[in-house]
Amino acid sequence: MHERKGAFIHDGKLVLRLNKKVEVPIPKRALDWLNKRFAENPDKKTVRVFERGGKLVAQIILHKKNVVALPNNPLLVVVDLNSSHGIVVHYWDGGLIKTEKYKPPNRSAAWHNVKHLMKLRDVLYNQGCITQQQINKYSAIIRETLSGSMKSWIQQTVDKIVRRVRRIAKRHGKEPLVMIDVPDDESLRGTSLQRTLLSFAKYFENILSWYGIYFEEARLYSTVCPRCGEKLDLKMKTRNLRLMTCKKCGFEEERDKVPLYWALNKLLALKGEAF
Ligand SMILES: [Zn+2]
Repeated sequence: MHERKGAFIHDGKLVLRLNKKVEVPIPKRALDWLNKRFAENPDKKTVRVFERGGKLVAQIILHKKNVVALPNNPLLVVVDLNSSHGIVVHYWDGGLIKTEKYKPPNRSAAWHNVKHLMKLRDVLYNQGCITQQQINKYSAIIRETLSGSMKSWIQQTVDKIVRRVRRIAKRHGKEPLVMIDVPDDESLRGTSLQRTLLSFAKYFENILSWYGIYFEEARLYSTVCPRCGEKLDLKMKTRNLRLMTCKKCGFEEERDKVPLYWALNKLLALKGEAF
């Protein structure tokens, strides 16, 4: 982006110098968001322009190079993407500060609309009112309906977690260290939930980099003993609690909290490497 060549933003409009000058109005919300990001001093601002489906698409891409050192005495944030409860976040500063859970939206509202679209499509088709090309358009709308909602959920949830991480770290006077257990569960392979969790991890790491927050990916188990490595057994199960126990060393903890112990082990190992 440049005032005199390429593209720039002026008066709430994106001005593109292609064969001719093209001005694209930017919606107010997007403009507010962009101004906030510009104030955070990106190193590189580029605009990518291309054609997709007969439309001109312009993407504004902001880069920021952050070299982040391992914090000395960090606030530990553990993000578990393998939990059956969705996404579980633990905040730890010598003791557990709090645990938060986020569930991907059930798609019932989107599904309702999709079913309606499918029904309309079939009725029109049976009456011979639409062509194959028009049927394809319905498929595209259906795909869009299902993907859009998940994407905005991921963005909103990541933004919420990153805001919270920065706020809690500030309150505790520490630098945060985020440990992410990337989705790895065999049973999820190839499912839409796995795709959701993987794009969640990617977007999350992107935003953490932007704010210069140190993060590590680590496999944090919930069914392996963090003390001795033995497989944990389920001791007791209620609607809200699954208590795990180790028959070898006697370790006992709620299943959702076990990854936190693995993260603390990993943190000690990291410190061993660093100091
Ligand atoms: Zn054990």
